[in-house]
Amino acid sequence: MVLSLAPLESPSPAHICPFDQACSYLESAAKELKLDQGLLAILSHPRKAITVTIPVKLDNGDVQVLAGHRVQHCDVLGPYKGGTRYHPTVTLREVSALAMLMTWKCALLGIPYGGAKGGIAIAPAQYSERELERITRRYTSELLKDIGPSTDIPAPDVGTSAREMAWMMDTYSVNVGHAVPGVVTGKPLSIGGSLGREMATGRGVMIVVREALAQQGRAIAGSRIAIQGFGNVGSAAALLLHEAGAKIIAVSRGSGGIFAEDGLDIPAVKAYAAQNNRNLIGFPDAIPITNTDLLALPCDVLIPAALENQITADNVDQVQASIIAEAANGPVTLEADRALESRGVMVLPDILANAGGVVVSYLEWVQGLSYVFWNEERVNQEMEGLMVQAFQQVMKQSTARQVSLRLAAYTLGVGRVAQALSDRGLYP
Ligand code: NAD
Repeated sequence: MVLSLAPLESPSPAHICPFDQACSYLESAAKELKLDQGLLAILSHPRKAITVTIPVKLDNGDVQVLAGHRVQHCDVLGPYKGGTRYHPTVTLREVSALAMLMTWKCALLGIPYGGAKGGIAIAPAQYSERELERITRRYTSELLKDIGPSTDIPAPDVGTSAREMAWMMDTYSVNVGHAVPGVVTGKPLSIGGSLGREMATGRGVMIVVREALAQQGRAIAGSRIAIQGFGNVGSAAALLLHEAGAKIIAVSRGSGGIFAEDGLDIPAVKAYAAQNNRNLIGFPDAIPITNTDLLALPCDVLIPAALENQITADNVDQVQASIIAEAANGPVTLEADRALESRGVMVLPDILANAGGVVVSYLEWVQGLSYVFWNEERVNQEMEGLMVQAFQQVMKQSTARQVSLRLAAYTLGVGRVAQALSDRGLYP
């Protein structure tokens, strides 16, 4: 056996630190709310940041040692909740930022969770399915004492899906000696997953885009929409918006995208991607387009649904959409956000726009705990109700405080957590 050691540290972070950016939004909300400095200090730090070593035997017999993270930001409202990301750029700071966002998102949607996030800095495509299973199982077993249905409940994120959630659920259940469906959400239906979960984040995006267009006296039907990222979230949003009559003029993956002036046939694009190793390039009746050009397309709605830091000070001037729906977490940098605000572009912030996933995760967890399972219509209805309510609250807060939708959403989320923290008091 050859021992090959991968560096324990994740690759260096992108030039814009997502954790600094998350803290900056928190500070703006705290200033607007005139929050007590002690509360701000508590909320600026994750309660627990865990890094575990994952030794994994590769199919060729080599051993690789990976670093896995799980950050638990704040559990004042309920158990920690958050996705698990497999992507080469994962770092502890990125995971910490995403955990903090989850805290505000759950509070904004009024669901009794705190924020968490996990991740491993790997490119899943470079590993076989068996290797990914071993990585996921070992990562889960290293976190056994830290996760659980009443402590911390992982879900899928970039690079993971129902398959990884099934491995996590099984590893946890085998170790505690009985099936525990509530330990993860986003799992397959056969082991207690919820109908509607797969499309949930994309459906939530569709709902907030519909509501935002309605605010401007427009409808989804006939609107021109460009979507960056065609994974779990981007492809579901594309399909639902297409079904509602929008013209999806462009979609992309990391490897590039496709453009069609009159709108793409999204079910056909999905089928093409499924047959071509998820590649979009070569789809008939469409022109290849780079991710940079996609962001600059003339359109009504732009939906970044890939990764952080896509709309930056460098390209914000080229953005022509009048509505941006942040399906991804943190796709707009702080500087770009200020520029968009001054231009009057309506930015639907991530903690609102992509909350459909955690809402249905919550509904899945509730069904798992009660052992009563709902039909898809009920799941979608419950989710829609919570999304529309949160959208309206954010609009109202924005008007009342004369602040951007992002600051409005943050003041609601941060304010609720701060109130709970203050009511519970500081132990000891
Ligand atoms: P995914 O892995 O299924 O899809 C990511 C997509 O982005 C892929 O199509 C990939 O090719 C593309 N991509 C990667 N790098 C890119 C680049 N540089 N330029 C353009 N495209 C690129 O991940 P996902 O679950 O769809 O998550 C996407 C975003 O949505 C992430 O920010 C995630 O945190 C957020 N999110 C996901 C969920 C969920 O339920 N999955 C919930 C809330 C938020």
